[in-house]
Amino acid sequence: MEQLFLNLKGYKRIAIMGGTFDPIHYGHLVAAEAVRTEFNTEIVLFIPTGTQPYKQNQTVSHKEHRYLMTVLATASNPNFAVSRIEIDKGGINYTIDTINELISMCDMGTEVFFITGADSVFQILTWKDGASLIKKCNFVAVTRPGYNKNDLVEYAVNLKKSHSARLHFLEIPALAISSTDIRGRIKTGSPIKYLVPHEVERYIEKSGLYLRHDFSADILQRLKKMMSEKRYIHTIGVAKEAIKLADMYGEDAEKAYIAALLHDIAKEMPNSSKLAMAKAVGIKLDEELEKIPTLLHGYLGAQIAKTDFGIDDEYVLDAIRYHTTGRANMTLLEKIIYLADIIEPNREIYEGLPQIRQKAFDNLDEAVYEGIIDSISYVNRKGEHVYYLSEEARDFLKNEDKLGG
Ligand code: NAP
Repeated sequence: MEQLFLNLKGYKRIAIMGGTFDPIHYGHLVAAEAVRTEFNTEIVLFIPTGTQPYKQNQTVSHKEHRYLMTVLATASNPNFAVSRIEIDKGGINYTIDTINELISMCDMGTEVFFITGADSVFQILTWKDGASLIKKCNFVAVTRPGYNKNDLVEYAVNLKKSHSARLHFLEIPALAISSTDIRGRIKTGSPIKYLVPHEVERYIEKSGLYLRHDFSADILQRLKKMMSEKRYIHTIGVAKEAIKLADMYGEDAEKAYIAALLHDIAKEMPNSSKLAMAKAVGIKLDEELEKIPTLLHGYLGAQIAKTDFGIDDEYVLDAIRYHTTGRANMTLLEKIIYLADIIEPNREIYEGLPQIRQKAFDNLDEAVYEGIIDSISYVNRKGEHVYYLSEEARDFLKNEDKLGG
């Protein structure tokens, strides 16, 4: 079917731009054109993903929408083409199958350059037949401005040695634009002019894509699949308490609900993955965090909330980020999530907890203060070092005159 429409014969070098394209934007187009000129390829073939292995549980726009937007965005460039190879295939799409099929449509010896976001480089070996895929084509990892390439370069050097990988890097300033940001803008009614081609903007407007919908229902559905049952029950408990506290203290209940739902999203990652991810996304690791990686789950949770769930409200992200350690001068939402995490009804009872539960709805600062004191003594009892942010949180609250007696 595909072969009727797509003739790849006669090309010596082709670039393949795989992506979700939800939606496609100028960053993708600039990256594709930069790769085409840099590596002298005759065309760039855009391949919108069908069902992608790592995104089966995520809410991605319907593939026909994403395909049509890609066609609209690329139509004016004679060196760009779009393939339905993954769109038309049922089931899960693996890059190895796509590349094999495309190579079989090319002349012998055609050189293939697969363009992908830089973070994917870390994952390629985990993709289906990753080791064999690496040998079939060049990879061009395109990076956003400000991307910390140190770990990537080190990883790439090893991959070149171990698998003879042909890996190239290209920094694309236009990749400051991101699909996540565009979806967020549409939800909040901000303009997307000059971020996507005009035709794509009109398509989004007409189809009503990315408009506000029951966001928390999506989150719940995904959490259920991602978390252990115990963590999920705890999360729901925290969310309920967070809404009650928000109501009581005049906080935005929706923000409290979203922050609570996502607060422990990184909690169950193995410690080694926590450290690796923290390094990859540029979280500054001090000695304490290296020693007690579980403390990282708030920071990583905020990162995942941003990149995987499209949350870009820093106020909400901070509440996720500091829910374990607290910090000096916590915002109202930070205090609410910190406290909801402690008082949720499924938590095992310990001395002091009934008192905090009682105080939570009387005096927020006092309840948070007691929560911090309890957690500090718990860490002391375990013989571990108390993280400095918790000490700062304690001292800050102590010096505020909101604490009674
Ligand atoms: P993604 O997780 O949606 O994207 C990760 C990051 O890379 C995002 O910041 C994204 O930016 C950026 N990005 C993705 N593709 C890009 C491209 N071609 N050029 C520039 N930036 C890009 O990644 P994805 O779109 O799902 O997957 C990328 C490709 O890897 C697809 O072809 C997919 O099929 C393949 N893949 C294969 C396997 C497998 O075979 N097992 C597993 C995973 C991925 P934006 O959000 O702004 O686009």
